[in-house]
Amino acid sequence: MRTAAFTSAALFFVLCTSELVAQEPGTVLIRAGRLFDSEAGAFLENQDILVRGSRIAAVGPGLALPDGAETIDLGNYTVLPGLIDAHTHLLYLEDLSGSLTTEGLKALLLEGEPLRALHGAARARTFLDAGITTIRDLGNSGMFVDRALQRAIQDGSVPGPRMIVSGPGLSPVGGQFPGLQPEYADLAAREYRIVAGPEDAAEAVRENVTFGADVIKIFSNNTPNPGYLSVAEMRAIVDEAEVMGVRVAAHATDDRSIWRAVEAGVHSIEHGYQVTDSTLRFMKERGVALVPTDADSVTIMRFLELSGESAPGQGLSYLASRRARLRRAKTLGVTIVAGSDAYIDIAGPQGEAARRMLFAYHQAGLTPIEVLQAATLNGAELLGGEGRIGVIKPGAMADIIALEGNPEVDFDALERVRFVMKAGQVYRQP
Ligand SMILES: [Zn+2]
Repeated sequence: MRTAAFTSAALFFVLCTSELVAQEPGTVLIRAGRLFDSEAGAFLENQDILVRGSRIAAVGPGLALPDGAETIDLGNYTVLPGLIDAHTHLLYLEDLSGSLTTEGLKALLLEGEPLRALHGAARARTFLDAGITTIRDLGNSGMFVDRALQRAIQDGSVPGPRMIVSGPGLSPVGGQFPGLQPEYADLAAREYRIVAGPEDAAEAVRENVTFGADVIKIFSNNTPNPGYLSVAEMRAIVDEAEVMGVRVAAHATDDRSIWRAVEAGVHSIEHGYQVTDSTLRFMKERGVALVPTDADSVTIMRFLELSGESAPGQGLSYLASRRARLRRAKTLGVTIVAGSDAYIDIAGPQGEAARRMLFAYHQAGLTPIEVLQAATLNGAELLGGEGRIGVIKPGAMADIIALEGNPEVDFDALERVRFVMKAGQVYRQP
C-alpha cells in the first residue's frame, strides 16, 4: 500500500512538471483579504502569496513586492486553493430523457470520438471558470478520449483543469448498458473494459496504464446492470495497480459491492449510496475514502422541473437518505472527498453543475470548512497530490481562486468565483 502511495505521488509530480513546458508565467504577488488554510482548516486574514512561474514561493502577511513582479489585489475576496473534483465525466453528458444505455450508445455510434473530444474540451473550460482546477475523470470516455483531452490541456492547446484520467472502467459483463442484446455485447467493450477472471483483470490494469491511465476505475457492481466483480478479480486489480504505481477507485452502490471492494484493497468508494455503519467502520479501518457523488436540493428541483415531474416526493426522499448516510460517514470518521459525477444535462455550464456538490455536502450537515477540505486537502491526498494541490503553501502548484464573500458565514459565496489561476496562469480576473 505504502509503495503505491509513493509511486502515485511520483506520477502526480510528472503530471505537474509537464505543465511547466506549456507556459512559464512570471512572478506575481497576490494580496488576499482572507485566505483558506486547508491544512489548518482555518481562514487567515490579510495574507500575501508570492507566485513564481507555476508554483507558490511564499505565503504570509506583508510580503515585499520583488522587482519586476506584478501585483494582483484580491483584498476584497476570500482566496482558496483551486477546487478538486475527484469524480467527473468530461466526455459524457446524458440527456434527461435518456439512460446510460441509450446515451452511451449514442455517444459511441452517433457522436463519435472526434466530436466527443471537442465537446469535452468545451466542458473542460467550464470547470476552470467554476474554480475547479483539478479533476479525476473516471471513464465513460470511449477508448481513452480522456487521455487525448488531458494531453491537449497539458500542452496548452485547450484551457481546462488538470486531469487525472482512468481510461475505460473495468467492469463485469455488459458494462452499464442494461438491455443490450447479446449479439451486440461488443459495444459495451467500446466504453468499458469488460473483465472476466483475475488474470484478465490484471491484464486490463496493464493495458490501461500502458495507454495512459493515471488511476484504475472499477465497477465493483455495474449498476444499472446486475453484475459484480469477484473479490479475486478486484484483488488481482489492486495488486497489479500497486505494481504499476496507480490507485484504484471503485464504483460501488450497494453494501455488498462496497464491502467487497474494501476487502480487496481499493483506495476509494465512489457513490456508496447504501452503505451500512459496519461497512463504514471497515472503510475507516482500512483508510478508504468515500466520494459521495450527491446532488443538492437546487439540482434535484431543476432536474424534476426539466423532466416535467410534478410530485417532488421521490426527489426529497432521495435527498434525505443520501444526506443521512453522509452524516453517518462523517460521524464514523471516514474521509470524505468531493466528487460531483455531474453527467446529467440540467442545462447550463457543466462546471457550475459540478460545483453544486459542495452545496449537497453542506446541506447534509458538513461545516463550510469540512466541505472545503473535502474539495481541497482530502482530494489532493486521494489523488496522490499532497502538498502540490489543494493547499496554498510554498512548493505547491499555484492553483488559486477567489470568491466574493465569506463562505464560512455565507455559503452561497461559492457561487461567486471571480478569479481563477491554474499553475500560475490566470484564466479569470475580477
Ligand atoms: Zn461516475
